[in-house]
Amino acid sequence: MIIIMERNSTEAQEQKVIDFLKESGFDIRHKKGEIYTVIDAIGDKTTITPDRLSAFDGVKEVKIIRDPFRLASRDRKADDTVIEFANGVKIGGDNKPVSIVGPCSVEDYEGLLKVAVAAKEMGCEFLRGGAFKPRTSPYDFQGYGEQALKFLKQASEETGLLTVSEVMDASDIDMMCDYIDVLQIGARNVQNFKLLHAVGKSNKPVILKRGLSSTITEFLLAAEHILSYGNPNVILCERGIRSFDGKYTRNVMDIASIPVIKKLSHLPIIVDPSHGTGQRYLIEPMAKAGLVVGADGIMIEVHHNPEKALSDGKQSLPIPMFKEVMGRLNKLSDALHYEKNCLSANIV
Ligand code: PEP
Ligand code: MN
Repeated sequence: MIIIMERNSTEAQEQKVIDFLKESGFDIRHKKGEIYTVIDAIGDKTTITPDRLSAFDGVKEVKIIRDPFRLASRDRKADDTVIEFANGVKIGGDNKPVSIVGPCSVEDYEGLLKVAVAAKEMGCEFLRGGAFKPRTSPYDFQGYGEQALKFLKQASEETGLLTVSEVMDASDIDMMCDYIDVLQIGARNVQNFKLLHAVGKSNKPVILKRGLSSTITEFLLAAEHILSYGNPNVILCERGIRSFDGKYTRNVMDIASIPVIKKLSHLPIIVDPSHGTGQRYLIEPMAKAGLVVGADGIMIEVHHNPEKALSDGKQSLPIPMFKEVMGRLNKLSDALHYEKNCLSANIV
């Protein structure tokens, strides 16, 4: 950590900072330049954050050299995290990208099963459906709760697909874990720290969506909250962010965040073009874009009858369109996987 003092800082102010850091176990190198004084502090930064040092009079700037998201950082773990499920499905590393599909909300069993059967037929690994829906308006459909989870479990038993559903309240986690394989934290809860800690204590993998206005650092710090509570199985999900232009797309998909996060973190990251764009016709091109830049999976909303869907019908793919799109995405995934393997074989 480097502390740069103000140009007119006094020796007493500098000494106060140095004493505080020494008391906190830091080794100090103190350099007096012609204009600025710089204090170089080496030690454990878990207790002393830049924020605390900024409170001292005379401190101009505090820079930390290591990423603030320690556990999520590649500095801590150079190899990709690979999450493996009991049925052998793996997410991350050199594994083929996974596909997570399903309706925004679970509505009825027959409809869900139609989607699940199509997903299975197209080689997808996960069925996803909302039981607890975070809706902007309290008058919109809020989800069927536990009944929806029962349907997910039943569809999973029927097809062998793994299941994903969003958790909104820490008190639901234990109940949800009886029915599903992966907990999702939605964009609106990315800074609900108590919920992050609660899923951090759970033994189910977690899909963490990027918040509507999360920077990449904030997104990785949200993952850090989960990791720091003991759950190493976090899957990040780029789902677009708010920007000034919302006319043609629901959000702005930050495709570059995928290779940026791959560079910064060992955690797997998937792409969600459904919430990223809000437009049916944009799902295929943006899913392809995500795969090309290295996403470890895709998440797509599919409904057996989008016109009657209780949420997100506009962006949901009807089953015939899903099958066509998925067929092409599978070809792309196969080609990219082949390419990746050849490239790594060449490097070795
Ligand atoms: C969802 O996955 O259905 C959802 C509500 O997504 P997000 O949290 O990304 O808005
Ligand atoms: Mn949705």
